[in-house]
Amino acid sequence: MRTHRPTPALPAHLEQLYARFPFDRSVADDPISAVRPLATDRRRAEVAGIFAATLAIGNTTAIRGAIGRLAATVDGDIGRLVDPEWRRRRSRALAPFRHRWIRGDQLNRLADRLTDYYARSATLEDEFVAGLEAGGFAVGVDRLARTLRGTGGPPGYAALFPSPLGPGSSAAKRLTLFVRWMVRDRYPDLGLWRRVPTGELRVPLDQHVHWIAYHLGLTGRRSRSWAAVEEVSEALRRIDPIDPTRFDFVLCHTGISGDCPKERDLAVCGPCSVRPDCRLWRGHRMAA
Ligand code: SF4
Repeated sequence: MRTHRPTPALPAHLEQLYARFPFDRSVADDPISAVRPLATDRRRAEVAGIFAATLAIGNTTAIRGAIGRLAATVDGDIGRLVDPEWRRRRSRALAPFRHRWIRGDQLNRLADRLTDYYARSATLEDEFVAGLEAGGFAVGVDRLARTLRGTGGPPGYAALFPSPLGPGSSAAKRLTLFVRWMVRDRYPDLGLWRRVPTGELRVPLDQHVHWIAYHLGLTGRRSRSWAAVEEVSEALRRIDPIDPTRFDFVLCHTGISGDCPKERDLAVCGPCSVRPDCRLWRGHRMAA
């Protein structure tokens, strides 16, 4: 297939998409809505963020339902998942929990790992920054993944935290999303980690972002590998060097909301700001 390169007008069209985007509609639908209320307490926000990002699999309604059920096991306060005095109670309460292939015993293990981590460190930012400074963003994500995995744990637990440096060079969407939430200081993100420059962020490459990034020519890769994450992030960094993941939320929710049908559809694609750049519309006119 021919290489599809971004058009010279793409930066202006992305700006238009961003400016017109109904953020409030989509923030209410996004797992970050469970984390934002805790933004005044860094540790509780990190805890809620790790659990919300870990559960970010499937459609947004199911994800928000899973986060709500998880919070209900600790009387609605997700921060209690790492309180040592709740260890025994949460273990029992989490036993029947299921969300897709994620089980309660795995989430209980994650709560144990975090409880032990916070007994000796104030913030997960320390782990990420140690990796970032040693070898860059992927090493930071790898270090976070290793910290959360530890050794042992119930079946399937370690697989919840893949690393860009591990087998298959995972896109590590959920940890990359968590880092975006913690670092970016513009809506809807929290800006709680101040030692990571926003220009270093990488795109959390979920299926929606990957689809649209491919069709706008931000990557030529069809598989969601770490190499694709780097390509899309670099392309967005050329548009906004200070804040390359600024467009991530908009691209993601354009797909989630149905604003992008992922096919040539006259009625839906008509108002799309990036239609002139979209691979599906190159060489096609709007007139039926
Ligand atoms: S033109 Fe249509 S298919 Fe292409 S990105 Fe826009 S909404 Fe999606």
